[in-house]
Amino acid sequence: MTGQAPVITKTTCPYCGVGCGVLIEKTAENAVIVKGDPAHPSNFGRLCSKGAALGETIGLDGRLLNPEIDGAPASWDEALALVAKKFGDTIAAHGPDSVAFYVSGQLLTEDYYVINKLAKGFVGTANIDTNSRLCMASSVAGHRRAFGSDTVPGNYEDLEQADLLVLVGSNAAWCHPVLYQRMMAAKASNPAMRMVVIDPRRTDSCEGAELHLALRSGSDAVLFNGLLAFLQAGGFRDAAFVADHTSGIEAALAASSAFSIARVAATCGLNEGTVELFFNWFAKTRKVVTLYSQGINQSSSGTDKVNAIINCHLLTGRIGHPGMGPFSLTGQPNAMGGREVGGLANQLAAHLDIENSDHRSLVRRFWSAPNMAQKPGLKAVDMFAAMRSGQIKAVWIISTNPMVSLPESDKVREALQTCDFVVVSDVLAHTDTNTYADVLLPATAWGEKNGTVTNSERRISRQRAFLPAPGSARPDWQVICEIARRMGFSGFDFATPEAVFSEHAALSGFENAGARDFDISGFTGIGADEYEALSPVQWPVLPGKSGGQARFFDDGQFYTPDRKARFIAITPRPPKNPTDAAFPLVLNTGRVRDHWHTMTRTGKSARLSAHVFEPYAEFHGEDARLNGLEAGGLARLTSAHGTMLVRVKTNAGQRRGCVFVPMHWSGPFASDGLVNGLVNPVVDPVSGQPESKHTPVRAQVYQPKWQALAYARQPLTPPPGAHWVTGLAGEAHCLEFYGDKAPVDWDDFAHSVFGSGDDAGGAAEWNSYRDQATGQYRYSLLRGGRLEACLYVGAAPLPMSRPWLSSLFSEPELSPGNRMSLLAGHPLEPGADIGPIICACFAVGRNQIETVIAAGASSVDAIGQALKAGTNCGSCKPEIARVLGR
Ligand code: SF4
Repeated sequence: MTGQAPVITKTTCPYCGVGCGVLIEKTAENAVIVKGDPAHPSNFGRLCSKGAALGETIGLDGRLLNPEIDGAPASWDEALALVAKKFGDTIAAHGPDSVAFYVSGQLLTEDYYVINKLAKGFVGTANIDTNSRLCMASSVAGHRRAFGSDTVPGNYEDLEQADLLVLVGSNAAWCHPVLYQRMMAAKASNPAMRMVVIDPRRTDSCEGAELHLALRSGSDAVLFNGLLAFLQAGGFRDAAFVADHTSGIEAALAASSAFSIARVAATCGLNEGTVELFFNWFAKTRKVVTLYSQGINQSSSGTDKVNAIINCHLLTGRIGHPGMGPFSLTGQPNAMGGREVGGLANQLAAHLDIENSDHRSLVRRFWSAPNMAQKPGLKAVDMFAAMRSGQIKAVWIISTNPMVSLPESDKVREALQTCDFVVVSDVLAHTDTNTYADVLLPATAWGEKNGTVTNSERRISRQRAFLPAPGSARPDWQVICEIARRMGFSGFDFATPEAVFSEHAALSGFENAGARDFDISGFTGIGADEYEALSPVQWPVLPGKSGGQARFFDDGQFYTPDRKARFIAITPRPPKNPTDAAFPLVLNTGRVRDHWHTMTRTGKSARLSAHVFEPYAEFHGEDARLNGLEAGGLARLTSAHGTMLVRVKTNAGQRRGCVFVPMHWSGPFASDGLVNGLVNPVVDPVSGQPESKHTPVRAQVYQPKWQALAYARQPLTPPPGAHWVTGLAGEAHCLEFYGDKAPVDWDDFAHSVFGSGDDAGGAAEWNSYRDQATGQYRYSLLRGGRLEACLYVGAAPLPMSRPWLSSLFSEPELSPGNRMSLLAGHPLEPGADIGPIICACFAVGRNQIETVIAAGASSVDAIGQALKAGTNCGSCKPEIARVLGR
């Protein structure tokens, strides 16, 4: 191998909607080296902590490698035949709307295209929805109301060229980290640039902002209605743009005219001076980008909030030009690709409208479709309700885990139990959803499959395979086409993903002639070589114009019948379910910095699990006190829909009356960590998106009789009846568990779990100790001097340093000092405890950062120079700044 240039595969990160380019190098030992692609226009070589750790997440542990029927191994032929027959029989007996498909923003565009073609053109049902419904359906609806099309007008460069960035309901520092770092770099080089964050809680994104509006949960439309009225009253209207290129201004102004600064401040729970300052900054800065994300979309009035934001940009004519415009940040890697193929139940392929008979006709003719769906299908929440009522009798779930991600998990479970026939295509053998599958179909994962994804700025990028398909796993598009053929449908004879992409491209240009925004017909007939070499490009891509298009609407032409953008008159509505005496707190769900969705991938990385190990709830300190809660203790959160156990954190940046809980923990990682079990199922009436940011809950102290913390080289099983959380910690597995009924004897428990130490060769030694002062039990097991396992039990939260404990597992032989430390429960050597991990890339802990601050480091950069913290992806820089007290 010496002398040969390494083989590099260019691909795209499978996590968030930023869509970063990734370079993969496979070493001679088959290890994978992951780097950011310096040539990719989304990230220019940067990766966040999640992207940088991709190489740690591609192992085959836990993979579903072969089809299963009723839990037993089956051949592909048996599984495909059964799925085709059951779906065919159900449709024949009960009609097309008796079946459904629930898919995912994780799918590649090619997968997404064929499943939509099958459902809407051949089965004849629009009962196909996607988990993107939970993510950005309100943005889609808002775009379509305002622009006549689901168009993102601008691009990432606008965020760097703006003089004012307004982040609304977006913690980009954690959820779109590379983009946030691009904004921070632009701010550093443009001292005039300002950032405003609008969010009930003070997130890490606020560290780079000049102004934070901690508004009352759900009151965003009031704020933007007030801004519209302020802009109009102050003479900031772009009269020519409004007159020539918009409609509906009078109704929108009438709806907003009563929203004075005083009323806005009172309704939003802000002070008047802060509101006025924001309004003035917005009014007097021409180059403004308003970025918004799930904090806007996940609301029972999310579509109205989107349009309230767009109204302000239309009034000032700030759209379609460099450095300005409304900008929806998508959560998933291919949420946009899903929109392009009509992945939502109320869409048709190629940004066509399922409720428009001309559009249905166009698609029917293009596909030669025998059975076009004639009406919108059931959106996600309604789809699962229809399963529960028996209306939907067969469902095929692809690449998503609705048991974890949909609101009201108990009802989702009932739906899956009630549904006669459940098929799940997944990469993993065991997920909360797979439990209810009649048929499991193994899918290829990131790194094994080929196709395209589209990011938040309309940029199409290739995902390329660099690993072989394991076991008998197959790409989803192939499986979908095979099922379609077995159901007797023609039009699914695609041999390659580029053949699917070519047809998708051709449909986008079919009878288009500039009538529709989405047009990539320049890729029609794309061959294998061109597809393989495809560079990231922003659609539209017209024939002869391969370079793509950076912005829409610079000519003031929109996709409505009169080519004018529409103002939407907004009457703000409060969240559907108000708090009351029984449920006095507002639950707000979201992401943590280093985990992704249900942790099926990021949970495989010890590095990513180090920052936040367990489900937690973050309260304002005063709310915690009023509810009898203490930081580090446990709480039971309860809503009208479910309950969960969480570790308590307090944060003065949390708005009073609100509690934030991350969404990631599912059945394989925690017994009681499923936050969506609590979330109310109310949805936006236009978009159908659930209100995941506002569920009334109550919080109560949960005081178990005992709490335990165990580390071992093997996965650990908790005692029956215990509550537990598990995950990777360095080279060990960590299990935290607690409950009311303790094992009779902890020595016996430890021996049963870890072994007695009497193994062959007698090289094992175990020690246990009961601390009479604290009542703690401590246990350690070593083999040949190497730490095998340790266990700590006590009545109160255990104060052991987790980074320190997990670091002991990387020592080939424990020193006498560390042996003593282990049973003492804390390091005896100064500096051995690095503290809670802040920088995941370089495993730098809080104690280390505090030490260099004490030694004189006075800036984030100085800390980076001393410890490397924050110098790779930069995602931890806001947290370092907080330690600094900035
Ligand atoms: Fe992946 Fe991070 Fe880039 Fe998002 S910001 S695409 S998670 S590397």
